[in-house]
Amino acid sequence: GIILGIESSCDETAAALVTTDRRIIAQRIASQIEDHAPYGGVVPEIAARAHAEKLAPMIAEVMAEAALELDDLDAIAATAGPGLIGGVMVGLVSAKALAMASGVPLIAINHLEGHALSPRLADESLEFPYALLLVSGGHCQILMVEGVGEYRRLATTIDDALGEAFDKTAKILGLGYPGGPAVEKLAKQGDPKAVPLPRPLVGSGEPHFSFAGLKSAVLRAKDTSQHEDADIAASFQQAAVDCLLDRLRVSLDDIEKVPALVVAGGVAANQAIRSALEGFADDRSMRFVAPPLALCTDNAAMIAWAGAERLASGQSDPLDFVAKPRWPLDPDAEPVRGAGA
Ligand code: ATP
Ligand code: FE
Ligand code: MG
Repeated sequence: GIILGIESSCDETAAALVTTDRRIIAQRIASQIEDHAPYGGVVPEIAARAHAEKLAPMIAEVMAEAALELDDLDAIAATAGPGLIGGVMVGLVSAKALAMASGVPLIAINHLEGHALSPRLADESLEFPYALLLVSGGHCQILMVEGVGEYRRLATTIDDALGEAFDKTAKILGLGYPGGPAVEKLAKQGDPKAVPLPRPLVGSGEPHFSFAGLKSAVLRAKDTSQHEDADIAASFQQAAVDCLLDRLRVSLDDIEKVPALVVAGGVAANQAIRSALEGFADDRSMRFVAPPLALCTDNAAMIAWAGAERLASGQSDPLDFVAKPRWPLDPDAEPVRGAGA
């Protein structure tokens, strides 16, 4: 089978065609980085307009490249939340229109489920269950992925997401937006021990994350003018790594058997974080799986793949499915002070 995937929840407009046997047959992605750069972050109204402009021609392009007609598709999968609602609606409504015109089933995908299942697109041998560290611009969570649609949240952030902390650190250091890759690059030239920075919640028995205090400490370190920017970047990245490993330890210690540790989301592109996680998994005889970089940041192939997984379990959605700006993967998770979706 072939699934069309559509992604428009943040600042990437993307369309992809993915087969149920894990082939990405065509894909397009347009980043709006330049549109938002002057504002230092994503402006929702600008994002929605850009998605509206780019998405339809992009879908036409992937269909043409694969030489497919709408009724060759087995499903049309679109991100239906969480995210910036204007953009989500552009993608979801486009998918509904195509589904209605063609009679092909619609599948409304939770963007986080796209990230959560993306490692299975890249690696056919990855089976359920696995522990997932989901680290992106909007989320920082540890989940047990027990099956398609079966997600148990173990930890989340009580304030900022880790990608957000990278972006704010970049802003403080004048590195521009998006900050993650720029901070990582600068950190390579710095000393990770040079600047004393806090590790919020490390040592706490609660498994959650907190990064707001770390960001404030970065701001103070910069303000003193006593440190090189590269040392601040390296020390920040080291603090982030230490927090991730400690929080994973607390989350996973009580769980009987966790065969694999999987990382997903945009921050999973960070090599220092990847190798630290790999070491953590090795120490515990867990398999470590990280999707290729292009599947870590927002993309439509992961949405199409989540659609393929849902389709395989016999699921689809009605044409009146409502876009959800907030949509937790684990609706049963205990609410946490300040935590987002
Ligand atoms: P969400 O998926 O939670 O809605 P999002 O769409 O903004 O949020 P992604 O596109 O998955 O998230 O990831 C973007 C985030 O990843 C940004 O915060 C960016 O700074 C961060 N990021 C990207 N590359 C790196 C890197 N090499 N090191 C650290 N962070 C990175
Ligand atoms: Fe994302
Ligand atoms: Mg993004």
